[in-house]
Amino acid sequence: MNLTFLGATRQVTGSMFLLEFTTGYKVLVDCGIDFDKKNTKTTLFPFSPKEIDAVVLTHAHLDHTGNIPNLVKEGFEGRIYCTYATYELTSLLLSDCAKLNVRALQNISPKERENVSNHFYLPKHVQDSLELFVTTDFHRELHLIDEISITFKEAGHLLGAGSVVVSYQENEERKSILFSGDIGRKNYPLLVNPTDVPKVDYVVCETTYGNRKHRESKSPSEVLHKVIQETCVERSGRLIIPAFSVGRTQALLFELNKLYVEKNLPPIKVFADSPLALKSTQVYRKYVRELNEEANYFYDKHHSLFDFDNLLYVNDMKESEQVSNYHEPCIIISSSGMVEGGRIEHHVVNNIENQYATILMIGYCAEGTFGYDLLQKPEFLKSGGENYRVMASIQSTDVFSGHGDVDDLFEFIQQQDKDTKVFLVHGEEESMYDFQYKLKSEGYDDVNIPFYKQKFKL
Ligand SMILES: [Zn+2]
Repeated sequence: MNLTFLGATRQVTGSMFLLEFTTGYKVLVDCGIDFDKKNTKTTLFPFSPKEIDAVVLTHAHLDHTGNIPNLVKEGFEGRIYCTYATYELTSLLLSDCAKLNVRALQNISPKERENVSNHFYLPKHVQDSLELFVTTDFHRELHLIDEISITFKEAGHLLGAGSVVVSYQENEERKSILFSGDIGRKNYPLLVNPTDVPKVDYVVCETTYGNRKHRESKSPSEVLHKVIQETCVERSGRLIIPAFSVGRTQALLFELNKLYVEKNLPPIKVFADSPLALKSTQVYRKYVRELNEEANYFYDKHHSLFDFDNLLYVNDMKESEQVSNYHEPCIIISSSGMVEGGRIEHHVVNNIENQYATILMIGYCAEGTFGYDLLQKPEFLKSGGENYRVMASIQSTDVFSGHGDVDDLFEFIQQQDKDTKVFLVHGEEESMYDFQYKLKSEGYDDVNIPFYKQKFKL
């Protein structure tokens, strides 16, 4: 069997790995957007999508699924396998992406349209893609064909997220390869802990936090309680939280709901300003039995996970603009998490010169994004050609990060024998080298850091 690395090589985005079995059967594991290539006119796939028999998706995030409509547009006709919840969240995210593409196309001239990136897909491509999905449950072995099966194990990174074991028969021998997907962390709000994985012959492992440990020692609700108290009670100001609509926002809303029932949330309005957040909250509600024990206990007791008094979902843009300057202390949660595009931009810009406001950063921000610049806490910041004096308090915490840290990643690998062949992906190069060094010093000798398009005969 050949394994080719077609994305997330020495970088974080664009997960895509090709398995070519000796029988000629071809499986693509993940089919993510490479955010660096998204706006360019490059070849979409270095292979013929028509020749792929099946796609397996570890979880719904766009850097693992965002290229599916392009694959279908280019002729893929096989089946796409994932868990139930991954299907639902993927459907929301891809539809949202297509909607944004349509809007972007409407705003440019016909001449400019000719030069538009070929990565742009439309709602009809998403619709065609969704018809190819086949959903399954965790821990259930599903045969793609007689010789090849897949099994999902909870990864604890997002609702529906899994690591996937691909087991196959070749030359009378049974072998298996494990794709970590994104590995979550223990005791994350709502999500189950990553579950044990079986021993395999090969592992493809993510390394987002390959050389970092989480710093925050307080619990999510302690962190929120403190910042709400300081901003909304003591200073009577606004608390702005940039957060991804899928996953991160639900974790926040659940923790706020906990504060509410414990009577630790002051009587202030909480605005969840994202239509996508509302839709994904409904998916979380539907799959409550896949969430952790705490969430289930809370749900059984209070009959809801997210709906507390004073929580308001903001639907249209006009309402969203009004919320930015809401006259009483309040909390505004909006996307995107890196403050690049989305409604959060105007909330941040409208409040950046407000000394009573706090902007709480809860996720990773790539260099070059507005969120990254905010985190540097500069005196002035430029947005839309205007220069703003930063008067708001800028705070950050990693307590809501959905990625396990280096200890969690090592725990994942430790379940394997020392002679297992390991491939590191989905991380900054430095993080990969550091994690490779750690694994080697712990006795794992065969640890590889593949290059883009590198092929391994296994
Ligand atoms: Zn992810």
